[in-house]
Amino acid sequence: MEPATDRSRNHEPIVGALLRIRGRVQGVGFRPHALRLARALGLCGDICNHGDGVLLRAWGSEASLRELQRRLRYAPPPPASVESCLVEALPGPPAMEGFHIVSSQPGTGLCHLLPDLALCDACRAELQDPDNRRYRHPFISCTACGPRFSIAGALPYDRERTSMASFAMCGRCAGEYRDPADRRFHAQPIGCHECGPSLRLLPGETAGEHSLQGAIECLRNGGILAVKGIGGFHLMVDATRPEAIARLRRRKHRPFRPFALMVRDPEVARRYCRLRPEEAAALSSHVAPIVLLEQSGERLPDEVAPGMDRLGLMLPATALHLLLLEAFDRPLVCTSGNRSGAPLCAGNDEAVESLDGIADRFLLHDREIVHRCDDPVLQLAAGRMRTLRRGRGQVPEALPLPPGLENADGILAVGGDLKGGFCLLRQGCALLSQPFGELMHPDCRRRWREEMSAWLGLYGSRPRRIALDVHPDYGSHRHGRELARQLGVPAATVLHHHAHLAAVLAEHGHPLDAGPVLGLVLDGLGMGEAGALWGGELLLGDYQGYRRVAHLAPVPLPGGDRAAREPWR
Ligand SMILES: [Zn+2]
Ligand SMILES: [Zn+2]
Repeated sequence: MEPATDRSRNHEPIVGALLRIRGRVQGVGFRPHALRLARALGLCGDICNHGDGVLLRAWGSEASLRELQRRLRYAPPPPASVESCLVEALPGPPAMEGFHIVSSQPGTGLCHLLPDLALCDACRAELQDPDNRRYRHPFISCTACGPRFSIAGALPYDRERTSMASFAMCGRCAGEYRDPADRRFHAQPIGCHECGPSLRLLPGETAGEHSLQGAIECLRNGGILAVKGIGGFHLMVDATRPEAIARLRRRKHRPFRPFALMVRDPEVARRYCRLRPEEAAALSSHVAPIVLLEQSGERLPDEVAPGMDRLGLMLPATALHLLLLEAFDRPLVCTSGNRSGAPLCAGNDEAVESLDGIADRFLLHDREIVHRCDDPVLQLAAGRMRTLRRGRGQVPEALPLPPGLENADGILAVGGDLKGGFCLLRQGCALLSQPFGELMHPDCRRRWREEMSAWLGLYGSRPRRIALDVHPDYGSHRHGRELARQLGVPAATVLHHHAHLAAVLAEHGHPLDAGPVLGLVLDGLGMGEAGALWGGELLLGDYQGYRRVAHLAPVPLPGGDRAAREPWR
C-alpha cells in the first residue's frame, strides 16, 4: 500500500488506510476483535459492517497499520475467516480520536451471512454453572455461537434486522453488548432469563423451567414431543421404547424411512455406533450435523431404522436441546417436525395446527424462525466427510467457484422438482439454498418460492439470467420462466444430466478451461435431448457443453415421469 502521510502530529509520519475485508466476517465477533487489536496497536479509526463484509478505517504509524492488517488477515478469531483484504490509502489527518465500531452501511455486494452456529464450549460451561446468570438459559449464545441465518430478516446482519429485534436487551445484556472486552460484544442474538426469548409448553400453558421439566416428563413417559428448534420443529420420542416409536410412525404415516437420533454427548453415541475420528469431529463441529454411523454395540429397537446398518446421529446444536438431552443417558428419536411430504414446521401456530394428532405436547418459544432449515446429513466416505443433504449450520455459506469462474455473477438457477432447491451465483461464489422437498407438493413449492424471493431481497440481488431445467412440466421450470418474464431477463434451459456433471466438476474445483471429462450420470430421471427422459448416460463434457458417449438402452416407459418412481407402471 502507499498510504498518504501527514507529519503534523509530533513529527511522526501518520498514515491512513481503508481496509475492505471480505469473507466470513459478519456475526462472528470480527469487529470487536478488530477494535481490540486496533486499540492495542494505538490506532484510531472505525469499523463497520458493510454489504461487502466490513470496512475498516485506521490511522497510525505505518508499522502498526501493517501489523493490524497482518493479524486480521491471517489470525482472525474463530469462526471468522478472511477471503480478501483490499487496502486503499486515506488522506490524513485522522478524522476522529480513538477507535470505534460504527453502525452498518447498507451495500449491495456479496455478503457472507453466516449459517446458524452450534453451542460453543464457553456458553455450554455457563449454561451448566449454577452461579452464572445464564444458568440453564435455553437461548444462551455469544459471538461464536447461536442463530444467524435462521433469524436474519435483512442485511447487514444487525440485531434490529433479525427476529431478536422484538427483545429489548436488559441493562446487563446491553452492558455486555457494548463492552469491547466482553465475549458478547456486538453479539446480535444475546439475551438472558430476564430479557431473552422464553419457553412455553402446550397443552397446559406452563412456562420457563417448568415447561422444560414438563417436556422431559412427557418424553420419559413415552410421549411424542414437538420442539421448536433453531431452523424448525423436531418431533422427539424415547429411542429405546419400540411402542412409542411405532406410534410416531403410525401418526406420521412414515412406516419405514429411518429416524435420526440425538444423544447428549459422544460417549452415548459410542455405546451404539462406531465413531471414527473424522465422524466425532463432524458431530462436535459448529455445524452439528446428523452423521450416518455404523451400528455397533448396544442395539436400539428395529423401529428406529428398519433394515439399516447405519444410524443417523447428532449432538444437541442448541442449549435448549442440550437441556432436554441432559436428562437422558440414551438416544432420543429427533426427526423433522412435519407431516409426511409437507414442509418443516417453523411457526408456533402452524406447528400446533399441522402436528395436531402427531405430537402429545409442544415445547414452544417466542423467537421467530425467519428461514426454516432442516438438519444437514453427512457421511464418511473414501476418507472424507461428505454432505448428503445440506441444511442448518451450512446454509447460506458461500461456496467459491473453481478457477475461471471468479466473475460468474447474477445467475439464479432454479433446479428440478425432486428435492427442490435453488442456487444464486454471486461474485464467483455459489449460494446454495436448503432443500425444500418435492416441489410437486403445493406447500413445498410455496416455501421454495417464498424463500427464493426472500434471498433475492436479502442479497439485494436482481438476477441477470435464470437457469431452468429443460423439463417444461416441472413446476420449477414454469416458475423460473414466469420470474424471467417478470424481471425481463433471459431464461436459459439446462439438460438435467449436464447440470449434474457441471455440479460435480464445480464441487471438485475443476477449472473452467481444464477441458472435458467423462461423466457417468446415473439418477432417477432427467430430460435429455429430443425430449427423451434418460435414467443413465455417459457424457463427455465440461461446464459449457457435452456429447453423449453412451447410455442405458432406452425402453418405453408408459406413465412418463411417474414411471421414474414406479417403473413397474
Ligand atoms: Zn457461545
Ligand atoms: Zn438480559
